Amino acid sequence: MESETLVELADRAASCVACRLAAGRTTVVFGSGSETADLMFVGEGPGREEDIAGLPFVGRSGRLLDQLIESELGLSRTDCYIANVVKCRPPNNRDPEADEVASCRPFLEGQINSIGPRVIMTLGNFATRAILSTNEGITKLRGRAYPLGAVAVVPTFHPAAALRGGGEVLAKMRADFVRAKLTLDGSLPVGGRP
Ligand code: URA
Repeated sequence: MESETLVELADRAASCVACRLAAGRTTVVFGSGSETADLMFVGEGPGREEDIAGLPFVGRSGRLLDQLIESELGLSRTDCYIANVVKCRPPNNRDPEADEVASCRPFLEGQINSIGPRVIMTLGNFATRAILSTNEGITKLRGRAYPLGAVAVVPTFHPAAALRGGGEVLAKMRADFVRAKLTLDGSLPVGGRP
C-alpha cells in the first residue's frame, strides 16, 4: 500500500477519536511548515494557545523557538516542519499518557516518513524519550546526534525550560541548534544509540 500523504494524514487526524484527548480539544494540532523540510522539530503536545490556533508552538515557547531557528540556523519556521508527539492538548497541560502517545504515534511516524527530514530536533524530555525509545533524561542525552534509520536526532531542551531556567539552559540550546546545523551540513558525525 502507498504511504499516506501529509494531507491525507492531517485529514484523518482532524476527525481522530482514538484516545481520550479528543474529548477536550478545540482543534487537532497536526503540524505545520515545509512538507519537504530537511529539519523537523518535535515537541510534546499542544498547549492552550496551540489548541485554539490549531498550530504548534505559537505561544511563548514558540516565539523562543522561532528566535533560535532564525539566530542559530539562519532559517525561518516555514523552512522547517514543526510537530508534536500528541496532536491534541492534554488537560491542564499534563504529560500525555503512554496509551495516548501510542494512539498518536502513526501520525508522527507518517509525518516523518512523508517529509523525510535529515535531522529531527526533539524538544525536551518527553519528545526525546518518545523518539529515541529511551528512559534517559534530556540533560544526559543532549550534546550529540543519534541515528534513527536515515535520520539524525539532535535532542535539546524544551523552550519552556529555557524560559524558566534562564541563560544556562538557553546557552545549551543555542549549542544544540548549532549542532543541528552542522549535522545538516554533514560536518558533524552522528553517534550511536542512547
Ligand atoms: N509545547 C509543546 O510541546 N508543543 C507545542 O506545540 C507548544 C508548547
